[in-house]
Amino acid sequence: MDTTENLSEKPLDFIRQIIADDLRTGKKSKIVTRFPPEPNGFLHIGHAKSICLNFGIGLEYGGPCHMRFDDTNPSKEELAYVQSIMNDVKWLGFDWGENLFYASDYFDRLHEYAVELIKLGKAYVCDLTGDKIREYRGTLTEPGKDSPYRNRSIEENLDLFERMRQGEFEEGSRVLRAKIDMASPNVNMRDPVIYRILKVAHHRTGDKWCIYPMYDYTHCLSDAIEGITHSLCTLEFEDHRPLYDWVLDTLNTPCHPRQIEFARLNLNYTVMSKRKILQLVNGGYVNGWDDPRMLTISGLRRRGYPPAAIRNFCSLIGIGKKESWIDMGVLENAVRDNLNETAPRVMGVLDPLKVIIDNYPDNLVEEMEAHNHPQNPSMGTRMLPFAKEIFIERSDFMEDPPKKFYRLGPGREVRLRYAYLIKFVSAEKDPETGDIKEIHCTFDPDTKGGTAPDGRKVKGTIHWVSSAHALACPVRLYDRLFSVPHPDAEKNVDFKEYLNPDSIKVLENCLVEPGLAAMEPGSRVQFERQGYFCLDQVDSQKGRPVFNRIVTLRDSWAKEQEKI
Ligand code: ATP
Ligand code: MG
Repeated sequence: MDTTENLSEKPLDFIRQIIADDLRTGKKSKIVTRFPPEPNGFLHIGHAKSICLNFGIGLEYGGPCHMRFDDTNPSKEELAYVQSIMNDVKWLGFDWGENLFYASDYFDRLHEYAVELIKLGKAYVCDLTGDKIREYRGTLTEPGKDSPYRNRSIEENLDLFERMRQGEFEEGSRVLRAKIDMASPNVNMRDPVIYRILKVAHHRTGDKWCIYPMYDYTHCLSDAIEGITHSLCTLEFEDHRPLYDWVLDTLNTPCHPRQIEFARLNLNYTVMSKRKILQLVNGGYVNGWDDPRMLTISGLRRRGYPPAAIRNFCSLIGIGKKESWIDMGVLENAVRDNLNETAPRVMGVLDPLKVIIDNYPDNLVEEMEAHNHPQNPSMGTRMLPFAKEIFIERSDFMEDPPKKFYRLGPGREVRLRYAYLIKFVSAEKDPETGDIKEIHCTFDPDTKGGTAPDGRKVKGTIHWVSSAHALACPVRLYDRLFSVPHPDAEKNVDFKEYLNPDSIKVLENCLVEPGLAAMEPGSRVQFERQGYFCLDQVDSQKGRPVFNRIVTLRDSWAKEQEKI
């Protein structure tokens, strides 16, 4: 895989600069990074930023990037998530090789380290309830208060912690806390909980444990155990860094990785937190985790986003230290840029209007040669059947068109892409509804291929399919899931209020050129003049394709935004 996509002329971001310096000065001889998801949901585009950063650095600096499941909370985690996360990372184009790890693999060592902390007089068993612990913790402006259990003897702590492990105590009745400083200005340092009792089976360790280590305690030690050199995480962990360092400084660990924080990806017109995505899935607002309107990796894949476009997007937005918002249009443009080069052009009529070419021989079928990509001849050509009865887009005909309408209408001539020039003759209406049922045209036999030997100019070119040969199919027009840039900005309004009512529109009776019957599910094409479409991998059947619109040809939302 080309990892320099779009990176070649860019200056190094601040993290890569640190890494390059560490290598140059000999501080590090090898770089090891990790991507540490918690298997409690599906990955989303925000995770892609972290994946591209961690695995990207792995590829650029020759070090491995570990895949590590941060599976310390058995009550919310599932094996299915582990599978989907691995699948998503691979699909994005990254490979951890042998380096697949689980924090749960370290439960024994984490437990030994906790015993070590107790022996050092740096951890104690606390019997306060959760509420009391919060109350004693103080606030940002007031210091906390020592727990009455803070000065238990080492022996008593060892005994109680062992009995916690044996399952003697109820959930919530006791925890193990690090003994740091209840007056620290940093709340995270006020004797944080490092172990809690959870009488829940774990998807990997089964019933072996009824005490589980907390995230902050687990993460730094897992990094150290694996020999991670640079532990890259999002800005909300900045305040946790002193704890990260305290644990590693207090214990005798194999190494002390450096935690570096970067700004998370915030994308407008969407919600990014797993908790909110779960609400959308469970509430039936979308069709599962891989609904093509979702910015989960599985949703984007189903929608048809190419992985290279997502990688390119991540490289375009860069890595910084300041929170910022990225416009959805940037992601969509990255997808357009990719598909503009890679997607073969085809013809698909979304809202068909029948056209009868009166002077075309009744039983003749001609094969018209069409380019698969107008700018890239190496993508070859294909043959399109052309006959007396065709379909065009309903919007390409107007009974009473304005002057600048360069398509079909009374007195107008138009070019059928890769075929002939046709001229309007008459329209036939449904006597009851007044809807136009079909139109009649004549063709000029001298204009095969689309040019007139007499040099007359025809401005408009429209797409078409042959009625007898076209493939009928539903097409799903997807649009943004939310209709406002910041659906979760207001505290008093539920973000679901801002769901875009037009985020999906299903057109049942579309017609596409016959060759698309052979398309591989998941592959992508441009319907000329319409947008980019992907053959749905789940709902398509042989001879009955279902297309998803990946993205329109142009950004129609940019204008919307100017209005706001
Ligand atoms: P969420 O906030 O959506 O619930 P999370 O942070 O709880 O996600 P994790 O499984 O803990 O999800 O995330 C794994 C890694 O992905 C972490 O290192 C985290 O910092 C990173 N990550 C999560 N969201 C983003 C984002 N929006 N931008 C960049 N990195 C992210
Ligand atoms: Mg997290």
